Amino acid sequence: MSSHPVPQDLPTRIQHYIDGKFVDSIDGDTFDVLEPVSNEVYVKAAAGKKADIDLAVAAATRAFQEGPWPKMLPRERSRVLHRIADIVESRDARLAELESFDSGLPITQALGQARRAAENFRFFADLIVAQADDTFKVPGRQINYVNRKPIGVAGLITPWNTPFMLESWKLGPALATGNTVVLKPAEFTPLSASLWAGIFEEAGLPQGVFNLVNGLGEDAGDALVKHPDVPLISFTGESRTGQIIFGNAAPYLKGLSMELGGKSPAIVFADADLDAAIDATIFGVFSLNGERCTAGSRILVQRDIYDEFVERYAAQAKRVKVGYPHDPETEVGSLVHPEHFAKVMGYVEIGKDEGRLVAGGGQPEGFEFGNFVAPTVFADVKPDARIFQEEIFGPVVAITPFDTDEEALELANNTKYGLAAYVWTSDLKRAHNFAQSVEAGMVWLNSNNVRDLRTPFGGVKASGLGHEGGYRSIDFYTDQQAVHITLGKVHNPTFGKQDPA
Ligand code: NAD
Repeated sequence: MSSHPVPQDLPTRIQHYIDGKFVDSIDGDTFDVLEPVSNEVYVKAAAGKKADIDLAVAAATRAFQEGPWPKMLPRERSRVLHRIADIVESRDARLAELESFDSGLPITQALGQARRAAENFRFFADLIVAQADDTFKVPGRQINYVNRKPIGVAGLITPWNTPFMLESWKLGPALATGNTVVLKPAEFTPLSASLWAGIFEEAGLPQGVFNLVNGLGEDAGDALVKHPDVPLISFTGESRTGQIIFGNAAPYLKGLSMELGGKSPAIVFADADLDAAIDATIFGVFSLNGERCTAGSRILVQRDIYDEFVERYAAQAKRVKVGYPHDPETEVGSLVHPEHFAKVMGYVEIGKDEGRLVAGGGQPEGFEFGNFVAPTVFADVKPDARIFQEEIFGPVVAITPFDTDEEALELANNTKYGLAAYVWTSDLKRAHNFAQSVEAGMVWLNSNNVRDLRTPFGGVKASGLGHEGGYRSIDFYTDQQAVHITLGKVHNPTFGKQDPA
């Protein structure tokens, strides 16, 4: 059926990593990990529960309270983070091979994600050293400054799309700022997460600072969220899971960062550079197998160019190369898991009643097995359609016409989500005005998913809470204690006799 090569030296089991040691679950329980091309079980992973989370949190707490990591100078931690980045870079091909095998991502895109993971560490290694202290002075009267302190044990819960890169996005700033961590990776794709342990050991991260517990969300994830000694939860995943976590964290008033789902619009005006807009909107929804939170999965096209756009878009979608994840020519690989495949195919069937199918609509020729889905395009989709409103998270796109700028904005905002928006027009005034009004945490004008690591990343509405990236991550992972010194007379507000400074 498949000529998909198995990488050499695959682990024979996937364990937790707690207090510097690989361990099984206390109760010995495991879960199956499937390889997405054949859907065969290729390894078993330790299924963590509350008892395993308790051990990991205890180790991380000890490392925070007794260990050197939180007390180290930023430049000392920075050196360790740079070494981590060096190691990730030097193993990018192997990381990509394993990630691609485990998740179904095309190998070239997995390689890009491995390199981005290294960049994330390098970026935060530099940022903690470069960061200017916040100091505010009133000459002769007072000095105020901010003590940034690591908070403690950060609980990091991550999804299965680009798992290694998304883990680095949280691990980088959490560690850079001196916290210790417990990572709970997604159960569909636990392979690459287990590689962090070796990388961190080699880079000199002290024992107990990084802990990893595999397992199901409702077991290990739930226990991490409800652990009283974990003051911070950084979560990336579905909006529905975010709501559950929000509720479970509420009694503890935990710090929460939530990067959630999306149904992002790409708006193409008649005055757009059509070649560029088509290329970018094809890439925007079909790259990473469409399993991308910021996918521009609703394309709104001005009526004057609508028919031409749909025709050219469908033709180009049919040329996108679906193939084995390991093949460097592949542009769309295999979806991650049969459960997710069933969900996406369910939407493809729904779409056939809700729109006009102009490309795809099933499994691609020659790949009628596993979790392959042909790039699928529906035109004439109405805003109340499920495929217009609901996140599909696969290579499926809905195209809808509009006439005026007002209608485009109304359609763009007609969703519970608010992660990203893409605007294609040659009128810069229109583009910037649209950005002001569209309900999205991130807007790309005539561009597609390029992002400097200093800029905030996050969504509004059901797409998230808070931002990650740059100084926003540093703020999230630190307490900012304000210290005030009076240089002049001591002001006693109770008696109100002296002027406040
Ligand atoms: P998911 O919500 O099913 O799972 C994410 C993680 O949460 C997994 O590790 C899972 O085990 C864990 N989890 C599940 N239930 C839990 C619970 N009750 N308590 C604690 N943890 C729990 O999401 P997914 O299917 O893995 O990922 C896809 C989703 O992630 C999509 O909606 C996508 O848009 C979103 N995503 C968002 C961003 C972003 O930056 N906004 C980035 C990537 C993915």
